Amino acid sequence: MGKALIIGCGGVASVAIHKCCQNSDVFEEIMIASRTKSKCDALKAKLDGGKTKIQTAQVDADNVDELVALITEFKPDVVLNLALPYQDLTIMDACLATKTHYIDTANYEPKDEAKFEYKWQWAYREKFEKAGITALLGSGFDPGVTGVFSAYAQKHHFDEINYIDILDANAGDHGYPFATNFNPEINIREVSAKGSYWENGEWVETEPMEIKRVYNFPEIGEKDMYLLHHEELESLALNIKGIKRIRFFMTFGQSYITHLKCLENVGMTSIEPIEFEGKQIIPLQFLKAVLPDPSTLGPRTKGKTNIGCIFTGKKDGKEKLYYIYNVCDHEECYREVESQAISYTTGVPAMIGAMLVMNGTWNKPGVHNIEEFDPDPFMDALNKWGLPWQESFNPELVD
Ligand code: NDP
Repeated sequence: MGKALIIGCGGVASVAIHKCCQNSDVFEEIMIASRTKSKCDALKAKLDGGKTKIQTAQVDADNVDELVALITEFKPDVVLNLALPYQDLTIMDACLATKTHYIDTANYEPKDEAKFEYKWQWAYREKFEKAGITALLGSGFDPGVTGVFSAYAQKHHFDEINYIDILDANAGDHGYPFATNFNPEINIREVSAKGSYWENGEWVETEPMEIKRVYNFPEIGEKDMYLLHHEELESLALNIKGIKRIRFFMTFGQSYITHLKCLENVGMTSIEPIEFEGKQIIPLQFLKAVLPDPSTLGPRTKGKTNIGCIFTGKKDGKEKLYYIYNVCDHEECYREVESQAISYTTGVPAMIGAMLVMNGTWNKPGVHNIEEFDPDPFMDALNKWGLPWQESFNPELVD
């Protein structure tokens, strides 16, 4: 059916690329382009021989001209951005210049400020609309599937959704005292920031990890979870009608919290540059360099993830509860695509989003969050491509 340019070749991209190759009727040709070309070549060597034709290229995705040249040469139908949030705007600029559809999994974040918001990408709405191209924002799991779950709940189960709690549990054990499951710099910036949630039309801010709850997750059991700010809160608060409160919780084990506190206390998570042996370094980037690379955790990680949304609202004048979630097994993911479940649960929806934009199922010129599209084809594709979902009408609630 078409061609996709995939930018980045890290943990998430590797899964998405495996999945594109499994889905070769749609992804006839792909180009893997990243900063370090050797990683793209190694993945190509592993996957060559199937029906999807794979090419590789070196690209600095901070450089719009390089991106435009690459897109002009390869002529993809879609660009799937699986580099880092810092590259979102340059890649969107290149898509505009070449009139190519754009998909990503994380919203833009300036390098010098740990603050992720949609305002920078939403500012491109009119330009994308005029160019007749679609930007699909946040096609990972959270954001991503959580938005699709919300749109599905709204379409099929509620007249009005009043409360959403998004619960992200990882009961995986990689055997290290401390490691992050995706890019350490992005992960630590996220969890060491202040928490916040949306209530009655405004943001309520909390200290980092201030609000803790214990939840008994299906197939995983009881876990400590902490309220975080998370990017889909911002778009869901606008796109889900009648919403009164929306919160996001993520589980963390005691060892992770203790290590993170200690690293914070000694200044290792700071993004302020410091002078070290005559060179400016950013402590968090140095920390990333000494931590285990998330892409090496796959063979060691055992256990499951459970990510989903609990909805409370009204249907036909009555109160209704609805919980929809996916459970994913780290070891099964590794057997299939040589990655752990965190990359898997992000890479599969990235492929699905790219597929739906590429085959025209989701064609809506402008810049849109995932919950603005019809959720049904995405929900079907989740079942087909490795992330089957389950539902409950009587879930335990979070107080
Ligand atoms: P990785 O660090 O493993 O991979 C990032 C890739 O981007 C690397 O291949 C890196 O190249 C490449 N890259 C970085 N900068 C540039 C640049 N300037 N030009 C070209 N390539 C570049 O990250 P992950 O795979 O863990 O995460 C990828 C994205 O997915 C992130 O944006 C993350 O926030 C998002 N994510 C979203 C989730 C969701 O549920 N929505 C969950 C988890 C992650 P190099 O190899 O040279 O370092």
